[in-house]
Amino acid sequence: MKFVVDCMLGKLAKWLKILGFDVLYFSKIEDEEILDIAKTQNRTLLTRDSYLIKKAKNIPNLFIESEKWPEQVVQVINSFKLQNKIKPYSRCIECNHPLKKIKKERVKNLVAPFIYENENEFALCPKCGRIYWPGTHYRKMEINIKNLIKGSN
Ligand SMILES: [Zn+2]
Repeated sequence: MKFVVDCMLGKLAKWLKILGFDVLYFSKIEDEEILDIAKTQNRTLLTRDSYLIKKAKNIPNLFIESEKWPEQVVQVINSFKLQNKIKPYSRCIECNHPLKKIKKERVKNLVAPFIYENENEFALCPKCGRIYWPGTHYRKMEINIKNLIKGSN
């Protein structure tokens, strides 16, 4: 499942990528352009703009209800039944490129020592060279999301 996310939903776009989904996001884009991308790349449009939704004829879309990004993430997951498709840290947040797992030893000189000591799983973006690891930020979010998914079913 591929998405294109409207300007005002940057946090939603970021977290969908962290969860491993194929997401395009632009901080600034014209309505016609985002609709064209959705259409030609077969992406589902996620937006909170009811005017844009009206223009999205024949384009799969979802109107995002909440203003809060954790609830937005849960709405997307529940609406498209993506619970089993979540693959955290499998996609680069910068380039949307699939990440490759990388052995811990190989990142020793590439990440801060306390990260190297505390983390065991690392992934590399072959396109931009960024290194990813789940980290505490993600773990907190994971608990948050799990609770919300449970709560909304
Ligand atoms: Zn990258």
